[in-house]
Amino acid sequence: MKKIAILGSTGSIGTQTLDIVNKNEDLQVVGLAAGSNISMLEEQIRRFHPKLAAVGNEEKAKELREKVKDTDCKIAGGMDGLLELAAMEESEILVTAIVGMIGIRPTMEAIKAGKDIALANKETLVTAGHLIMPLARQCGVKILPVDSEHSAIFQCLNGERERTIDRLLITASGGPFRGRKREELEQIRVEDALKHPNWAMGQKITIDSATLVNKGLEVMEAKWLFDVDLDRIQVVVQPQSVIHSMIQFTDGSIMAQLGTPDMRLPIQYALYGGERRYLDGERLDFAALGSITFENPDMETFKGLPLAMEASGRGGSMPTVFNAANEKAVALFLQRKIRFLDIYTIIEEAMERHEVISNPAVEDILNIEQDVYDRIESRW
Ligand code: NAD
Ligand code: MG
Repeated sequence: MKKIAILGSTGSIGTQTLDIVNKNEDLQVVGLAAGSNISMLEEQIRRFHPKLAAVGNEEKAKELREKVKDTDCKIAGGMDGLLELAAMEESEILVTAIVGMIGIRPTMEAIKAGKDIALANKETLVTAGHLIMPLARQCGVKILPVDSEHSAIFQCLNGERERTIDRLLITASGGPFRGRKREELEQIRVEDALKHPNWAMGQKITIDSATLVNKGLEVMEAKWLFDVDLDRIQVVVQPQSVIHSMIQFTDGSIMAQLGTPDMRLPIQYALYGGERRYLDGERLDFAALGSITFENPDMETFKGLPLAMEASGRGGSMPTVFNAANEKAVALFLQRKIRFLDIYTIIEEAMERHEVISNPAVEDILNIEQDVYDRIESRW
């Protein structure tokens, strides 16, 4: 039995993780955490019988405690609950399927407690990669990527040593607005941005895909996961989303991982620590697909990618500013308080104002996040 705890069990990645657990008799859920959807969390508790469930805040925790008092699941609330879940004795692996920088502390707590990490929460590595990667090495813990691009690279690397990587070729769908120019993006509505051509995902990452911020976060994530410098990471637009990413090795050989867009595959591959198992679902039909096409990303229109590269290049606390400004801007856009293109303006302004701190500690990162949030809130 492999014992799993899931941070963010009611979301897109969380529910797909539970689907994989359902299909494999040797996987067992021992802990669940979610933000506010306690009716779904109650169903999950009744179906999977975890020992511990954590909820975003204490009030919701009280409500849930009442609902499930006939079970023997312990309910915890707030950040303390997330930290308790991360380090719980019974688990071997933590799936970080929570959205945003709130994942940093629980992820570090789990690593310190010796848990392997199935990492979906990219914001964690983007802002605290310089702390998390050395900590994982020190604690002998594996960081197993769930993001499809990083899983593709991880799958291609199987058996190869990382030092034979010449460059990483990270593929991108280009998002729902690929091919459009800046003027055409001025009137974009929330509904338009939430329509991703190939993947069904949580709201935040779907907006990030439309701005190409998501690809920027993935480049930063790849840099930490595979220890490859930015100038050796190239983004290639591949609109059909069947090539999930590629590695060019030092002998010129290129390996790619292909398949239908289905996040359950990278989730399952991570849960089994990089071991391949049977998975049902659609298979790729090349004749039906006809062609796979490639193009360069439009960095002038979709500034999410160049801004991310700039933040990563400047390093230290700048990726935190980039990420926090984007988190806030996306939240404001989803609340219809700003326009689509304002997302870029907000990120640019926040980065311009910031003086980089090198090697920020967790407290610095969280303080900077709050600062960036407050400034944006007072200005927009
Ligand atoms: P989502 O919005 O669908 O789900 C987020 C989950 O986090 C929910 O269960 C929510 O309840 C929980 N959560 C939010 N705030 C919380 C809090 N304060 N306390 C406890 N739980 C809280 O998001 P998602 O699309 O599943 O994405 C999750 C992460 O995975 C993100 O970092 C995203 O970038 C990454 N990711 C997602 C996909 C995908 O296909 N969805 C692919 C690659 C990477
Ligand atoms: Mg991805």
